[in-house]
Amino acid sequence: MLALRKIAAAPGLWLDEISEPRAGPGDVLLEVMAAGICGTDLHIADWSGGYEAMAAAMPVTLGHEFVGRVRHFGEGTDGIAVGTRVVVRPSVVCRRCERCRAGRAEDCTTRTGIGIGRNGGFAALAAVPAENCVALPDELDDAVAALAEPMTVSTEAVDTGGVKPGDTVLVIGPGTIGQGAALAAEMAGAARVVVAGRNDAIRLAAVEALGFPETVDTAGTTLRAALARSGLPVSYDVIIEAAGAPAAVPEAIDLLALRGVLVICGIHPSPVPIDLTALVRRHQQIRGSYRSPLATWPRVIALMAAQQERIRRMISEEVPLSAGLDAFAKASRRAASKIVLRP
Ligand SMILES: [Zn+2]
Ligand SMILES: [Zn+2]
Repeated sequence: MLALRKIAAAPGLWLDEISEPRAGPGDVLLEVMAAGICGTDLHIADWSGGYEAMAAAMPVTLGHEFVGRVRHFGEGTDGIAVGTRVVVRPSVVCRRCERCRAGRAEDCTTRTGIGIGRNGGFAALAAVPAENCVALPDELDDAVAALAEPMTVSTEAVDTGGVKPGDTVLVIGPGTIGQGAALAAEMAGAARVVVAGRNDAIRLAAVEALGFPETVDTAGTTLRAALARSGLPVSYDVIIEAAGAPAAVPEAIDLLALRGVLVICGIHPSPVPIDLTALVRRHQQIRGSYRSPLATWPRVIALMAAQQERIRRMISEEVPLSAGLDAFAKASRRAASKIVLRP
């Protein structure tokens, strides 16, 4: 079968013919229906730093945002019937470390990421642990459901920020995580959601199509100046940084209201100097947010089913896996927001 893989610790991706996987003990074998390309995949393809640890797993099939149908299962699995449509939670816990043994698997110290540290969904078939599969409601389409993982990340960021009814929220970064954060903030009752990007016209247009007309592009100026020029607020209760742009962090703190919360969920390539005294005097908080707890998944899937037609607009295009390399190039130059591969 065809698989989109990382075979060496160097820039590039490889579309290779590989043998079909088998379901090991505890695994199910999935026929992959839809798999989204995400920013993490682009970083891994570019080999721009941060994923050196995955070299030990190479060659490895990428793809960690995917939906499949159970074809069969290995020994020791129960509870999932053949034919069930599932979305995959990419984080596999070890079951051996101190935290796993203490019943705190969510804090496992030695996780493996499906599509990063072991084979993922950019292939016709994928073998994954049965416990990582979350069953989908019939009404939720494959391609839309493939956005479940980024939607859980977005929802976790909004939960971490404690967004409450009436809040004014700024989302920095108009990619899929930022788009999902805007939606989750709206669901949490935010009175106003503004989304900012930098030289990012196509993805900001996607944000507007999603129903968030208040956007700014900070190209050639500062965030504060861009907001002021557009007549948008320059003070926010919660700011969600989903761009991974170090320069945006001090600019974001400058726009936080008294007692405001800045949530960082972008992956930053370098440290950031910030004015902590101003933060102290204004009683503000900076919180990191990454993976959501297990309990978030069913809530997000229900929300996605209820908002399916809207969330579908987050998908720029669906392309066959055989055109995967072109799709990566397009996503890399931000000419598309979310591309879903169809193996
Ligand atoms: Zn992802
Ligand atoms: Zn563990």
